[in-house]
Amino acid sequence: MRLPNYVRDNFKRIIYVRSFRARICLLALVVGVLTSALMRHAIMQTYENRAVKQRTETVQNQLLIVAKHLISNNYFSTYRLQEPSVIASRQGINAELETISNLYEGRIMIIGKNCKVIRDTYGISEGKTIISAEVIKCFHGENTARYDSENGYIEMTIPIASTGTDGKSSVVGVMLASVSDETIVSMMDQMNRNALMLEILMILGIIVASVVFSGVLTKPFKKVYDEILKVKEGTSERAISVPDYVETVHIVDAFNDLLGRMNALNDSRQEFVANVSHELRTPMASLKVLADSLLTQPDVPAELYREFMTDMVSEIDRENRIITDLLALVKMDKTTQDLNIVALNVNDLAELTLKRLRPIARKKDVEITFESVRPVIAEVDEVKMTLIMTNLVENAIKYNKEHGWVKVVLDADHQYFTLEVSDSGVGIPEKDLPHVYERFYRADKSHSREIGGTGLGLSITKSAVLMHKGSITVTSTVGEGSCFTVKIPLNHVSGRGRAERVKKIESEDLTKSEEA
Ligand code: ADP
Repeated sequence: MRLPNYVRDNFKRIIYVRSFRARICLLALVVGVLTSALMRHAIMQTYENRAVKQRTETVQNQLLIVAKHLISNNYFSTYRLQEPSVIASRQGINAELETISNLYEGRIMIIGKNCKVIRDTYGISEGKTIISAEVIKCFHGENTARYDSENGYIEMTIPIASTGTDGKSSVVGVMLASVSDETIVSMMDQMNRNALMLEILMILGIIVASVVFSGVLTKPFKKVYDEILKVKEGTSERAISVPDYVETVHIVDAFNDLLGRMNALNDSRQEFVANVSHELRTPMASLKVLADSLLTQPDVPAELYREFMTDMVSEIDRENRIITDLLALVKMDKTTQDLNIVALNVNDLAELTLKRLRPIARKKDVEITFESVRPVIAEVDEVKMTLIMTNLVENAIKYNKEHGWVKVVLDADHQYFTLEVSDSGVGIPEKDLPHVYERFYRADKSHSREIGGTGLGLSITKSAVLMHKGSITVTSTVGEGSCFTVKIPLNHVSGRGRAERVKKIESEDLTKSEEA
């Protein structure tokens, strides 16, 4: 089925954004773009402040010179006089003001003591009164300058001060000038364009660098993936090694661990299959030999037939036992959820099991005794608990001497119950003790086969004990006997059950403390 294009595009986009390399690229790009934009903004701002300051100072200097001329020509006291010499000097100063305002594309006003405009280069405000904070401040001797970037002008005030006969200086008027910022703006535009070009080049550089560097940075992860792929495809079975980063070492270590466990599992499975086939084939081979010898001999006497047939039946029984044990073992491999847990009187269960096994014991003249230290009620799976007891007591009878004894002791504390099965049998050599729970392991191979052992009994027993979250231990002395001890919790708590139980206990505690 072909997906619609937009679905595939979106899917690709999600995959791309989820890639570690893409995220590094994106991060580098965001950081790069933000930094270069901030830098451009800061540089432009600094340049603008400097340009405004410079222009303000230049205009102020020029106006200060004019202010001196105003004072030296008594401009304020003579601006109403119409004498030819006064008119000439006034025209000279007006021309100076005109030149400056033309030069800086601005407007200059001379304001007298009573805040009246004496001269306006625009000629529209003469005779009017101007009262503004800047003008008042300036009358107090303070220069002011303000940049209005929105309306595009710099406004400044310059005090016109005269020195009296007593040597004291007083402000007799104020020059209010506003000059255009057009040259600054056009310079700024030009600079902004250049900076933008530079920024674009920088971003392109950052994109290329981030693609290259992210590739270099993520290379070890790609190496890990390639190595795992080789193992997955079966071209390699060796442990992998990518020591580039601490993180890759952790991933690779975990993978190698898993690989080791998988290989061990595979080996044990192969060994198990080999053992199973061998064990199943042995009775078959005996059957074939028995059947062949009957077929190849003419006129076989009836007694021989009977004898051979009896042997064949016992081989079939053996095959049956192996298959039954194998099936029991497979069942044990399932999870603890398959347990059918009920509160059970373990004493009764032990009595019943021993009652069933006593006839077998009697054949070997083995005496079975049962000692119950205290009554035990435990949460167990009845079938599996019977299996545990039967296997241990059966072994204790099987590997016993003529006229020997088997002793079963049941005891408990507030948490666990223990089942001890000791015997006066052949015992298990020390070197075999750690292996008796392995599948198909037999300490005394020929004797075990002779008495019909499959080598699976203790393996099944241990699995059943572990399913009950218990433990099994053995002590033995060759020639004297063995003692198997099983310890199982009285209350069976599964993973979820335990959480619920803890919750219940906690809420009970809470209620108790509230009541208190
Ligand atoms: P099997 O079916 O051969 O009895 P098990 O798994 O029950 O297999 O036991 C493994 C081996 O441990 C036996 O073959 C036997 O050699 C040894 N073993 C088990 N129980 C006893 C015991 N009570 N006394 C002596 N040897 C024992």
